[in-house]
Amino acid sequence: MLEVEGVSARYGEATALDGASLTVGEGEVVTLVGRNGAGKTTLLRCLMGLHRPAAGRIVLAGRDITGLAAHRRARLGLGYVPDDRGIYAGLSVEENLTLPPVAAGSAWPLARVYEAFPVLAARRRFPGGRLSGGEQQMLALARVLRAGARVLLCDEPTEGLAPVAVRQIGEILRGAKEHGVSVLLVEQNLRFATTVADRHYLLAQGRVVEALDNRDVKQREDELLAHLGL
Ligand code: ATP
Repeated sequence: MLEVEGVSARYGEATALDGASLTVGEGEVVTLVGRNGAGKTTLLRCLMGLHRPAAGRIVLAGRDITGLAAHRRARLGLGYVPDDRGIYAGLSVEENLTLPPVAAGSAWPLARVYEAFPVLAARRRFPGGRLSGGEQQMLALARVLRAGARVLLCDEPTEGLAPVAVRQIGEILRGAKEHGVSVLLVEQNLRFATTVADRHYLLAQGRVVEALDNRDVKQREDELLAHLGL
């Protein structure tokens, strides 16, 4: 569904990504782990079209999207949930849900969003900024799913959330997968990663250095945590 081939990115003279390659299959949940500064956020931003790669190729559902603008990628079914969640604090939950541009033919009606996210239905008139951290993350995920995303790019959705909210986010991601949505997830919580993901990639100094399955992550948890500096 998503193929990333040799993507490099720079900030001025500094190299943030150095030929990163990975794939995400249809309905697959894949995590990207790596210590601070490894390039995880930069890679998601390159995939969404928010940072121009210096080299490499990005293919979505067989189509080369490397040069496309972000809004055109969104219309093709790519959804990005940034680490700050990207919701409008001053707008209501419902306004946040109805604002994003919608991929042709694949948008969810609001009723479906509220069925999948009952918490948001109860809070539909609340300003986004008055939601709890977990509710804000749910709103951010609901926005991109409603907009018809077939591939979700999520930057540390569980960071700073209480365990009950982490479990809810896990259920949402598993539900998305059941509907055939593919997910590329930046995640530092390895335990959580193994409960939601099919596979994992380890990013170090802008390069994918290892591909891991859940058994690898569980068996090597201590070594990986030390590598990640956690
Ligand atoms: P973190 O978990 O800390 O966000 P990350 O793995 O997501 O780390 P990036 O944020 O992608 O890493 O950063 C990769 C490298 O690029 C780091 O060395 C970082 O300092 C640098 N970098 C990131 N954003 C910028 C920027 N706007 N200007 C200059 N350098 C940047």
